[in-house]
Amino acid sequence: MKLARTKPNVIIVGSINMDFVVTAEKWPSPGETMVARKFDIFPGGKGANQAVASARACANVTFIGAVGSDNLGREAIKHLKSQEINTENILVKDNATTGKAIVTVVNGENSILINEGANGRLTVKDIVGLSHLIAEADIVLMQNEIPNLVQEQVVDICQLHCIPVVYNPAPARKLTRHFLENITYLTPNEHEYKTIFSTDEPLIRDFHSKVIQTKGANGIEYWQNHSLQKMAGIKVDTVDTTGAGDTFNGVLTVELARGATIHDAIETANIAASISVQKNGAQQGMPTQSEISKARK
Ligand code: ATP
Repeated sequence: MKLARTKPNVIIVGSINMDFVVTAEKWPSPGETMVARKFDIFPGGKGANQAVASARACANVTFIGAVGSDNLGREAIKHLKSQEINTENILVKDNATTGKAIVTVVNGENSILINEGANGRLTVKDIVGLSHLIAEADIVLMQNEIPNLVQEQVVDICQLHCIPVVYNPAPARKLTRHFLENITYLTPNEHEYKTIFSTDEPLIRDFHSKVIQTKGANGIEYWQNHSLQKMAGIKVDTVDTTGAGDTFNGVLTVELARGATIHDAIETANIAASISVQKNGAQQGMPTQSEISKARK
């Protein structure tokens, strides 16, 4: 009997940012200068966040991405290493700056501007050069903060080597049929689902079975044997939902790679995401494997 690998090899191809978070009393009007209440710098980027969630859920995580040749890039890599993520394949792009998110928080609500920097400089050639590595993954997880052509190259390599791909389409964009055919699971939130499928009945009919739709505190909807399944969200004292989706995706991917059923993988990811919303920040609240196991009991 072949036992499922307990520490699967997860490859994450995605973005690395530094988040500059300003907390203010109110939104500044156009042309207005205001004094902020608080300023923090946190490691972020959807790819990096999901990598941290996967590593804490006990996977061997290898990150493929890019930073600039600057201090922020060095800091970002140091941070990922401290989370036991393999950073050997993070490319340092000359004449590029590390990606940044400028986040303004007013009364717990976020508005975010992204400067993609080196994330936008990841190329198809970079990915082709790493195809031997991708070919050895148990599963690949990707989001939407790197160039589309790079994402397409990754899914083509995965298709060739029969490697499952979890694709979190955030931020939202339209997807081609070819792309949808080559990914294994699609994990949109409600807004991303609308952007991808709108009311396109043929597209929904052909690809609904790959969709695991997250619905915030309301939980998850997914399909099994052509019937819609609903899993309720877990009622907790919510402090900050930033990073809930990233926790969900990181943990879901590890569970699928371990060989969990779709239902069980979603259940574990739901528990993990509900833990994450009980703390501030995207990465601070991401649970370890033992915290997830404790919450399950
Ligand atoms: P974000 O961008 O805030 O990281 P998202 O929009 O990608 O998140 P959501 O659909 O908001 O994703 O949430 C993902 C999952 O996190 C949900 O399916 C659920 O499991 C969990 N979750 C989110 N919000 C809550 C909450 N308030 N209470 C409990 N669980 C939550």
